[in-house]
Amino acid sequence: MPASTHSPVSVLGLGMMGSALAAALLKAGHPVTVWNRSPAKSGPLVAQGAHPAAAPADAVTASPLVIVCLLTNDTVQEVLDSLGDTVAGKTLVNLTNGTPAQARRLSEWAAGRGAAYIDGGIMAVPQMISGPDAYVFYSGDKDAYEAHRTTLAAFGGTKWVGTDPGRAALYDLALLTGMYGMALGVLQAFALVRTENISAEEFSELLVPWIGAMLTGAPEWGRAIDTGRHLTDVSSIAVNQAAFPNFLTTFRDQGVSPELFEPFQTILDRAFAEGHAADGLSRLADLLALKR
Ligand code: NAP
Repeated sequence: MPASTHSPVSVLGLGMMGSALAAALLKAGHPVTVWNRSPAKSGPLVAQGAHPAAAPADAVTASPLVIVCLLTNDTVQEVLDSLGDTVAGKTLVNLTNGTPAQARRLSEWAAGRGAAYIDGGIMAVPQMISGPDAYVFYSGDKDAYEAHRTTLAAFGGTKWVGTDPGRAALYDLALLTGMYGMALGVLQAFALVRTENISAEEFSELLVPWIGAMLTGAPEWGRAIDTGRHLTDVSSIAVNQAAFPNFLTTFRDQGVSPELFEPFQTILDRAFAEGHAADGLSRLADLLALKR
């Protein structure tokens, strides 16, 4: 194994995700220094060989590579502000969920203190870290990324998405947007069938393949959105706009709140009113773009 594979790494933040990241680094053979606001959370990692640091600056001093995984980027900024000049010459990899604008600001903050900054978006839950389905988007300082890529591979797949530090957060939030959209639909469907005492778990056996089959149409939507050619012979705005009141009415009739779905009727109505009746639902992505 190359020596760099075992270079020291520090982890700031030992919540559910930070603990999984630190454990993965230990498993990969790195000397790992850990810091957490509530020190008790370092116990299980110390038992696996991690070194506890009393303060974030001590953890940063211990390693050239510092992984940050806190609740929010406001928290990250607070912790980074406590580091003084210990951060100069270090590489910060921030895997905290945040916005592209926050990532760009943190990158500027790091550059102003002589540190390299990489932002990341983790596409996994803690239990998936190091497993075959986990991966992380990275963007920012490419040289630092190349230097530490082997180490970062301890978490799972590494997907580089560009030198704009905000890009990883954009990919992360876009994928999670798809996930939350799916969750809204699944939960609304469950709420609906429960009004007739149908088991939600049993209904999921119908829901899962149905959603999977519908998702196979996503590349076609993507092509329509990329080319601006939305005309469809599959399912038009007109058909969906005419049918959608049935959903809102049924939710109300069955005693289920329509609040999550009313906005969909609004945008279908707008698409229809603006002359897109013959287009497919892909047209809605264009209508969602706000003028900037
Ligand atoms: P968590 O278990 O709630 O851990 C939050 C961490 O942030 C803890 O270390 C906590 O310290 C620290 N923290 C909160 N406020 C702080 C403050 N004011 N000062 C210092 N430290 C503070 O959350 P998590 O699941 O590990 O998530 C961490 C990040 O990973 C989040 O941005 C999350 O969106 C992202 N993420 C999570 C998952 C997931 O499935 N869990 C998946 C992808 C990405 P204490 O222990 O002292 O409270």
